Amino acid sequence: MDIYRIAIVGAGPAGYFAAQSLFKAQSTDRTFLIDMIERLPTPWGLVRSGVAPDHQKIKTVSKVFENIAKQDNFRLFANTELGKDISLKDLSEVYDAVILATGASGGKKLGIKGEELQNSFSAAEFVSWYNAHPDFTNLKVNLETETAIIIGSGNVAIDVARMLLIDYEKLEITDIAQHALSIFKGSKIREVIICGRRAPENAAFTSVELRNLIKLENIEISVSHNQLKESNLRISKVKDLDREVENNLHAMSMVLNQSSKSFKRKLEIKFLVTPLEIKGVNHVEEVIFAINKVNDGKVEITNEFFSLKAGLVISAIGYEPIEYQGIEIKNGRIENIAGHIKDNIYVVGWAKRGSVGVIGTNKSDATDVVDLLIKALKVPKKVTGIEGVLQSNHKIINQIGWEKINASEVISGELSGKPRIKESDWNRLINLGTT
Ligand code: NAP
Repeated sequence: MDIYRIAIVGAGPAGYFAAQSLFKAQSTDRTFLIDMIERLPTPWGLVRSGVAPDHQKIKTVSKVFENIAKQDNFRLFANTELGKDISLKDLSEVYDAVILATGASGGKKLGIKGEELQNSFSAAEFVSWYNAHPDFTNLKVNLETETAIIIGSGNVAIDVARMLLIDYEKLEITDIAQHALSIFKGSKIREVIICGRRAPENAAFTSVELRNLIKLENIEISVSHNQLKESNLRISKVKDLDREVENNLHAMSMVLNQSSKSFKRKLEIKFLVTPLEIKGVNHVEEVIFAINKVNDGKVEITNEFFSLKAGLVISAIGYEPIEYQGIEIKNGRIENIAGHIKDNIYVVGWAKRGSVGVIGTNKSDATDVVDLLIKALKVPKKVTGIEGVLQSNHKIINQIGWEKINASEVISGELSGKPRIKESDWNRLINLGTT
């Protein structure tokens, strides 16, 4: 029997699905001992800190993760950071193979003047803040403003818009961070404007997300009638049109038929606008945009400008991996060929493909990379695994430690009718998970 030690770095969906693929590939001749290494004190990655709190159903995938974690040959090493507590070089030496599932946690930057003003955030920051990510507990979010602007027209933009517009009572029964809940409760936001740089047919959100938003009470949604008409004209000439484009335009046309009587809050989806500058004294006050046009199927910036007053700007324009020693990032992903980085090091998930795809996308992606990894395996190395390289006094949160945190959060949630109350303080998380 060949026994291989595999390190998976990153305890998000891509990491768990890689572990699942490895376990499925075990046979009478081959076993895998899997160590999952995670920087945060808690696992589950974007399922914990990315999926919107009002989308609890999506989070039930965590049950799959916990079943994987219960396998005999699986160990969790949370609160253990690659590049700080352990190096990629060390991992590569003490494991037969290393799989990086480190995701893409940095928000892409617009690179425009004023982006650094107070109350201008990337979705990576804002979403992590309301989801109790311990790195973002102290983010200074101010919702005492009437208008918020979201740059980008993807599903994250829709998530953020919904969070800003939804009735506060709907958030009370979720696992939203307690610190964010009180800010949302005092929110004065009445209008959110999503700004996409291309045309309606190029919207990156999916029709199902827009339809769900339309179903919400108290929110009036608007899209330019003329822009939709022009989009429909353009797509009518396209052969083999992507079905999702058609569905999206249909969902957008549904909003034109809303009666606009008693809505408390408004969402406008503006297309063909490029942000040029965020203005304000210390904090966000106004955004200057250029108007774009479609010319021969291509989007071009024009010399026409306009400005919108707003007290909050969130750029939801995608994510990129965080750099650490031993890897190179290019075009929003860790450089790799079909998931292979170099030597015995592989990559899966958003770190491999960039920030595209939903949780389920990681499953087939991980299977492909694990197939590649297995083909390259030789005789198992006589290696120690993580114990050989981690400082003996390092505070690891193992699976039992995580289960203590999990149980404590769920119990405190039950008392107040929520799925859980998340702990968002680093020290308290470490204490809960190590004592
Ligand atoms: P996304 O789908 O890639 O959308 C990014 C948006 O930002 C696009 O509209 C893009 O426009 C725009 N953009 C990019 N760079 C820009 C710039 N410099 N200036 C202005 N606009 C810019 O990314 P995402 O919304 O972060 O979502 C990431 C992935 O997670 C997606 O696959 C998404 O479907 C998934 N997700 C799914 C759900 C769900 O299923 N409920 C929820 C959240 C996220 P262009 O198209 O012109 O580049």
